[in-house]
Amino acid sequence: MNASRRQETGDSVTGFWHARPFPLVAILAIPAAAAAGSLLDGTASWIVAFGAAAIGVTAALASTGRAQAGAAGIPAPTAAAPNANESVLRRAIEVRCAERTAILENLADAVMLVDGHGETRFANRIASDMLGESAAIAGTRAAIEALPTQVLRAVQGVAAARAGDRRRIECELQNKDKMPVVITVASVKNGDDALATIVVRNVRAEREADLMKSDFVAKASHELRTPLTFLRASAEMFADGEVTDPTERVKFAKDMLGETARLEALVNKMLDISRIESGLARAKFEPVNFVALVDECVNLQQAEALRRRMALSVSRRSAGTIAPADHDLMKQVMLNLLSNALKYTPDGGTISVEVDIDNLARSVVVSVRDNGLGVPEHALPQLFGKFYRVEGHEKVAKGTGLGLNLCLNIVEAMHGGQIGVDSQVGVGSRFWFAIPLEQAGRKAA
Ligand code: ADP
Repeated sequence: MNASRRQETGDSVTGFWHARPFPLVAILAIPAAAAAGSLLDGTASWIVAFGAAAIGVTAALASTGRAQAGAAGIPAPTAAAPNANESVLRRAIEVRCAERTAILENLADAVMLVDGHGETRFANRIASDMLGESAAIAGTRAAIEALPTQVLRAVQGVAAARAGDRRRIECELQNKDKMPVVITVASVKNGDDALATIVVRNVRAEREADLMKSDFVAKASHELRTPLTFLRASAEMFADGEVTDPTERVKFAKDMLGETARLEALVNKMLDISRIESGLARAKFEPVNFVALVDECVNLQQAEALRRRMALSVSRRSAGTIAPADHDLMKQVMLNLLSNALKYTPDGGTISVEVDIDNLARSVVVSVRDNGLGVPEHALPQLFGKFYRVEGHEKVAKGTGLGLNLCLNIVEAMHGGQIGVDSQVGVGSRFWFAIPLEQAGRKAA
């Protein structure tokens, strides 16, 4: 870079709009180039268009402006009063420049325009957030030096590239706790001046979501494979005529039915959770009487409790526990908490249910207490996660590890309520959920 250009751009300039007179031809090129760019991908192409429009700084205002000004909606200069018209035109150009600068400064991606040596001509605010304060100083190589070397190589290649040629680089920024980024370098030409736009997009959220998805798929596949392997092995034994004893055949068939039911429950829960998380499932709100709902669910579980000599009862029924909710979904939550209490409490244990009003939180609170196995403290934060089961509990009862996550989704995502647990190993657990007495725009009754 030569000395005079350095002087022009100055040290403190973060956008070269202010540093140089802006050419009419450049401003007018923006909308057309941007339209062409929109056929490419997102921000980066828009910026290529911007860059293309921004070069050619020395173009004369009035001489080249007339026809293009009209096309761009900027008043064209007339022969009658060239000076007055020129100032109107200049003002209109300034407004356009300010608008485009505002757009660039408010983008979530870092955007830079550099020359073939990597010296910055423009850098927006996010560029200095990502690459350091000095990255925004025009006329320096601070920005390019804060980026991986592949970016400099791509920038050096712009002289030989055609306008609009682009390169995509996936890498990590070393100075930003290894922020994963996608960098697009695009070539911009103006006569002999070869420039490059660099767009840096932070893709940490996308990468984390991808990791969560693969984790979910890995866990789901593992959970599905266990019953499937059992079913396949059993079916093969039947097919090969290996199970001949009639009593054994019945036992085998029953086990197969049991595993099929577990598989079905697993898939249904996975589908329910994904429908809620994707926003497809909607609660059908109606006034729900929680005392009646709890009595109904306790009655449904009474036979199993009796079979296992357990005391199952409703120990508290507060008045006025009516809140807007989806009756079937509330029943699903309640039955899940009750069946967990039964599963993880040894025979002869006690389970009691309370229905209360929390006047401060303006909510109905339902609690299910048991004197069963309890949950170790380290497991509590993960208990409502997908596929989580307390170690050792798989030997006590069959399960999917999805029931509590589904309850969490139903209570918190669909009803704006809260769900939680207090527990102590060997003493027991209290699982509770709270549903607001009023939903936005809905009264309890
Ligand atoms: P599932 O019971 O089908 O495995 P859940 O999501 O309902 O799945 O529960 C997750 C885990 O939380 C269970 O596997 C168990 O380890 C633990 N858990 C749930 N309820 C209780 C309870 N009442 N007492 C002790 N542990 C429980």
